[in-house]
Amino acid sequence: MRLVTVGTGTVVPDPDRGSACHWIEEGGTLVLLDCGAGALPGLARADLPWGRIDYLVISHFHVDHIGEIPSLIFALRHALAEPRTEPLAIWGPEGTQGLFDALAAAFGTWLLQPGFPVTVREISIGGVYGLGELTLKATKTPHTPESVALRLEGGGVSLGYTGDTGPSDDLAKFFRGVDLLLAECSLPEELVGDNHLSPERLAEIATAAEASRLAVTHVYPQLGRLDVPELLRAAGYEGEITMVTDGLEMIV
Ligand SMILES: [Zn+2]
Repeated sequence: MRLVTVGTGTVVPDPDRGSACHWIEEGGTLVLLDCGAGALPGLARADLPWGRIDYLVISHFHVDHIGEIPSLIFALRHALAEPRTEPLAIWGPEGTQGLFDALAAAFGTWLLQPGFPVTVREISIGGVYGLGELTLKATKTPHTPESVALRLEGGGVSLGYTGDTGPSDDLAKFFRGVDLLLAECSLPEELVGDNHLSPERLAEIATAAEASRLAVTHVYPQLGRLDVPELLRAAGYEGEITMVTDGLEMIV
């Protein structure tokens, strides 16, 4: 499985980082995970075949994770040399259908009828879904009413994605044994509150889950000034740590 961290920033404007967006590829299956501001130029810079994505999966409805979806669908409709005919399946937490109905009401019916088939599916906690050559599962996270963390498996490996989350004992169980955990790590412990992770809280989850590798994303400037890998190690995490940047490729 191939991961490209297309957008590794937060809501804070950053000349080097877009908001959340990640590319996942397993065999011929192409998945875009979240689609925040900067996703489209990020995909273009990384030279990824964004016109061929099969699935768009969203973790929650904060705009730094979904704000560029209308632009993505507009580009799929108008910016491809060959008009797209392949279906696009959109998966998200409870409320996703209502979100897309509202986006279509605001921007136009093309958003759900862009000239190729679009389906919107809501993920149930505990469900296991086939996305081409991948399987998808979700669990609730303490962040927004709908927010979920995701687990994708395929090709004999597994990738966990926290989306945005506060600390949760369930997450360690959900991510048990993942080969790579793509995790938010927002703020230092003294600033973090209960709906995001600090290095200390992330280290606890990743250690309990026995995740062998950690890809750290969604770091706010207040934390980015510190040595995050050192804080994760000091808090007990012993696996491999990568502070991901926009356009970085990792093989899971
Ligand atoms: Zn969020």
